[in-house]
Amino acid sequence: MTETATATTARHVPADLSSRIQHYIDGQFVDSTDGDTFDVLDPVSNQTYLQAAAGKKADIDLAVAAAKRAFDDGPWPRMLPRERSRILHRIATIVESRDTRLAELESFDSGLPITQALGQARRAAENFRFFADLIVAQADDTYKVPGRQINYVNRKPIGVAGLITPWNTPFMLESWKLGPALATGNTVVLKPAEFTPLSASLWAGIFEEAGLPTGVFNLVNGFGEDAGDALVKHPDVPLISFTGESSTGQLIFANAAPFLKGLSMELGGKSPAVVFADADLDTAIDATVFGVFSLNGERCTAGSRILVQREVYDEFVERYAAQAQRVVVGYPHDPATEVGALVHPEHYDKVMSYVEIGKSEARLVAGGGRPDGFDTGNFVAPTVFADVSPEARIFQEEIFGPVVAITPFDTDADALALANNTQYGLAAYIWTNDLKRAHNFAQSVEAGMVWLNSNNVRDLRTPFGGVKASGLGHEGGYRSIDFYTDQQAVHITLGEVHNPTFGKSPTPPHEEIAEAAENEDG
Ligand code: NAD
Repeated sequence: MTETATATTARHVPADLSSRIQHYIDGQFVDSTDGDTFDVLDPVSNQTYLQAAAGKKADIDLAVAAAKRAFDDGPWPRMLPRERSRILHRIATIVESRDTRLAELESFDSGLPITQALGQARRAAENFRFFADLIVAQADDTYKVPGRQINYVNRKPIGVAGLITPWNTPFMLESWKLGPALATGNTVVLKPAEFTPLSASLWAGIFEEAGLPTGVFNLVNGFGEDAGDALVKHPDVPLISFTGESSTGQLIFANAAPFLKGLSMELGGKSPAVVFADADLDTAIDATVFGVFSLNGERCTAGSRILVQREVYDEFVERYAAQAQRVVVGYPHDPATEVGALVHPEHYDKVMSYVEIGKSEARLVAGGGRPDGFDTGNFVAPTVFADVSPEARIFQEEIFGPVVAITPFDTDADALALANNTQYGLAAYIWTNDLKRAHNFAQSVEAGMVWLNSNNVRDLRTPFGGVKASGLGHEGGYRSIDFYTDQQAVHITLGEVHNPTFGKSPTPPHEEIAEAAENEDG
């Protein structure tokens, strides 16, 4: 039986909650040009609690035009990095000072447990601080060719960046893109996820208060196939940074192709956590329980496939299942809650359908349905399947909920083959005390990020991103700066101009032409 939190009230509605959300374009809150709206539900009651403006192409056109004006004629791209940095630091300070309110709204809108939403609000502030610092420390390359040339990199913002984000940790993931896009001097149009527009609507006020110039930040709410699609296909948006499902990423890739846009894709995952028999089992169990059930399991880097070496398999499964049953499912606003409510009834249905599929594919050892005491709302008991075969759908497909598949293995080679046996390649977690094995495994596993004897803890300087169907390109640290800037190379001749003379002599200077061609790229 899953333990449940004893919350006194089932649904906590934050005070002063607005009943409508508008777009924010060129410094103004506005409705959609056609007046259309969509319902936003809270995941505990699944009742509509507000109407959000449903943006379409016309709204995206207005937002992109405002962002382009701010880029072409406004001060933001031309400011000293130090001046932009000061504004970014102010944004971070404001976010920090409102972390409790932000967490309350985020938790209400998304169903994330309040304690975890609070951590995500602080991480959002940290993202702004980090890029505020990085942009003033930015160094670029200069190359000297003695007596001949100096070459230097003139790094420039690119223009209007289109930022498209998912619902799982909305505010934090938006900060992840907004921080570097703004730090580098671009202007932006943000299209947040339609399930969770609440926290995104706070950015406008925060940015205004911090002194961000008008038109630099624009927000259009709406559905992916309307507002998102129009942003991807807008000719004045040269960059799209997208986080979401792999299938959506494929579609965006195709839609952006005729425009040859810069794309950064952070996509889905089905990451392995590999537990060798020599691992510290207590820590490995704690970490793998947290690794899949934190953030309601709605976590791209969740270790949702646990591979366990046969010698410790039975013990691991028994202890893991017992601990999973003790995970506290509860109302999102309750600080005792460890797993809250899934974001939306559509997503709840998807996760529950995988729970049913799992029952026909593997051995259910914990959860498997609604937790006791929660007859309504999107609550799913932490669910554990053991003896999962690599062909099973619950081994191969991203569920994005509190559901985990456990599979035994015998040798290092078996573990590696199992770990790599999905279309995804986002993260991998390895639990062993054997140094050589840890590093050899880390270097062979098909994953953009590997944690050895560690949960998902990332220093903001390190690259973030996946391989295979989990993404394209890496963000994080200076890699984000690279994505949001153009590195123009400037070459200056210092000495004599080195080019062979064409068209002056009946006999072309063969040797001179060959020597010049050696230093040219076509
Ligand atoms: P999603 O792909 O359904 O939607 C993401 C965003 O894309 C939303 O804003 C949506 O409106 C928009 N969108 C949808 N169709 C579009 C289209 N045709 N054109 C333009 N925009 C469109 O994803 P989701 O369900 O919101 O989020 C969950 C997914 O995100 C999971 O697969 C998860 O693994 C992934 N994710 C990845 C990372 C990462 O960093 N790799 C981080 C968080 C979440």
